[in-house]
Amino acid sequence: MALRYILEKEDPQLRKHSRPVTDFNPRLHTLLDDMRETLEHANGYGLAAPQVGVLRRAVIVLDNEKEDKPFSEQVIELINPEIVSFEGEQDGPEGCLSVPGVYGMVKRPMKVTIKAQNRNGQEFTMTREGITARCFCHETEHLEGKLFTDIASRILSDEELEEMAKKEEEEAKKEKEAKH
Ligand SMILES: [Zn+2]
Repeated sequence: MALRYILEKEDPQLRKHSRPVTDFNPRLHTLLDDMRETLEHANGYGLAAPQVGVLRRAVIVLDNEKEDKPFSEQVIELINPEIVSFEGEQDGPEGCLSVPGVYGMVKRPMKVTIKAQNRNGQEFTMTREGITARCFCHETEHLEGKLFTDIASRILSDEELEEMAKKEEEEAKKEKEAKH
């Protein structure tokens, strides 16, 4: 496995349409393994193949139903993903490993059902809510060359980011205390 370089906002590759995966071969498996390592290293929640310069329809997303499991078990691999249904709404801050340090308010469905293939080509369907549903939308949009900054209702200010970080810190602290 190897870390891959994550392309940043201005890179034209991020604006291209990705092609379907047709060969479920060792090359795809290496790509997915590298993406897992890259995501863990970058401390992100999802990553799409075009973000590492591969214009193929493959993304990985962390599963919020497995938050207490080791990282490797949290990763959902989605090949040729397609959102088949969604419901509800959530409005919240969203970021992207390709747009470091920037967060914007983005409206997404609360619950999303996605159809995809696994790394061996087997089809499956999965429904998730909350942040994983948000990631399903965010990552599949990368495959169309879209970034969250295109659709954010507004970008958060430095003060708001500070407040968000503070809140997160407090929540982490509370969680830690609860575990003791
Ligand atoms: Zn992204």
